Amino acid sequence: MHITVIGTGFVGLVAGACLADFGMQVTCADTDESKIRQLQAAKIPIYEPGLEELVRRGLSRKRLCFSTDLKTSIQGALVIFVAVGTESQKNGRANLTHISEVARAIGRYMNDYKVIVIKSTVPPGTAEQMSAWVRKAQIRSQDFDVISNPEFLREGAAVEDFMRPNRVLLGGDNPRALAIVKDIYRPLYLIQTPFIETDNRAAELIKYATNSFLAVKISYINEMARLCDRLGADVHVIAKALGLDGRIGAKFLHPGPGFGGSCLPKDTRAFLHTFEDFGLENHIVRAAVEVNQGQAAEVVRKLTRPLGSLRGRHICLLGLSYKPNTNDVRESPALSLCELFLKGGAHVRAFDPQAIGSAKAALRNQRLSFAKDAYSAARGADAVVLATEWNEFRNLDLPKLKALMSGDVLLDARNIYDPVTATRLGFCYLGIGRSKIASKSKYTSASSKL
Ligand code: NAD
Repeated sequence: MHITVIGTGFVGLVAGACLADFGMQVTCADTDESKIRQLQAAKIPIYEPGLEELVRRGLSRKRLCFSTDLKTSIQGALVIFVAVGTESQKNGRANLTHISEVARAIGRYMNDYKVIVIKSTVPPGTAEQMSAWVRKAQIRSQDFDVISNPEFLREGAAVEDFMRPNRVLLGGDNPRALAIVKDIYRPLYLIQTPFIETDNRAAELIKYATNSFLAVKISYINEMARLCDRLGADVHVIAKALGLDGRIGAKFLHPGPGFGGSCLPKDTRAFLHTFEDFGLENHIVRAAVEVNQGQAAEVVRKLTRPLGSLRGRHICLLGLSYKPNTNDVRESPALSLCELFLKGGAHVRAFDPQAIGSAKAALRNQRLSFAKDAYSAARGADAVVLATEWNEFRNLDLPKLKALMSGDVLLDARNIYDPVTATRLGFCYLGIGRSKIASKSKYTSASSKL
């Protein structure tokens, strides 16, 4: 079966490469010429474990190709997956400009029956809107169906998630089109992946409901961490006990600098608009968004306490991507922290194993520089701030780090270090919701309790 995936970003590229590995004939199409040129040369524009190998295999077996020619890509495929971006507009609504561009291109170029599969995250009702856009752009009337197939992969584990998803969600009303898409996912059927079949609107809604629920869990534990700091309780013990309750579950109960990335922030904002469009208010998701918006400032407040002021201080920032194993810095909490440090008058020297290039494109400031590794970033620093929990940061030589610093503050925004060990090594250790171990800084006599 010939498949075209339109939009060769994180989702489209992973989906295209994996579908080719399932044995399909896949064309990945994109309007970004330089990206397509790189991919044709087997150069992967993003960092995603396992992806390069998969793309190389698809190219060498001639099951995967890359193109900027939308017309030929659309005409040559029975099934067209749409995986273009749906970033936030200024007001927080999902921007459907790219979806409508693709719909018009499909309408204009289609020459026979097509199944259009929306993989992008879109508000409920978009599949109907997509049908209208396609129909309007058609030069000659052609039959087609629109199936909603939201994607749940996680960056950093995207290939594994696509190959072994928790579930495959399909929304649509034509059994024939649903059967065609199910056939594409047959390898997953064979490993007993649950399939959920519903209508388009429910499928679209499930995706937003899922991401918003995860955001609520994160903000819930982040608020809990604030209370733990005041109470002198360890939030990890609280999270563990909560997580062992089968009705709650342990995932997404890790306190930190707030949720970020290309999905949770924009999807929660868009979801609030969906409620508003129906005269409703989602108080819970709104609260999760508000807590998250204040989380970076909460972390900065923590740091300011032992340092006295950020002005003129040198801060080593470890981690720039919004989570480990990706170079994606979209709405990264690490960048929010960096911006607040700079705004407070600090100098920041940052290191990330993969995301320095994307961070450079996103942030520019005379007081921001980048280092070649964690130790060079820490040289002369008053404080080290761990913002992204890359594995290589878990095994840092902490005595060496401490010896390179001119100060003693270690702000562990992901709670990956042991507070007792760090304190014993002479750090003024600050975690999120772990102030039980109070350690003193050389800068102020105040303890790190809050
Ligand atoms: P991305 O920004 O990485 O990639 C989008 C791609 O679409 C870009 O390469 C862009 O050039 C291309 N594009 C835009 N307009 C186009 C057009 N008219 N024709 C052809 N190509 C066009 O986006 P992404 O992170 O892959 O996300 C895509 C969608 O999937 C979004 O709706 C997102 O919410 C959703 N999603 C993302 C993830 C994730 O982890 N990134 C996970 C699940 C779902």
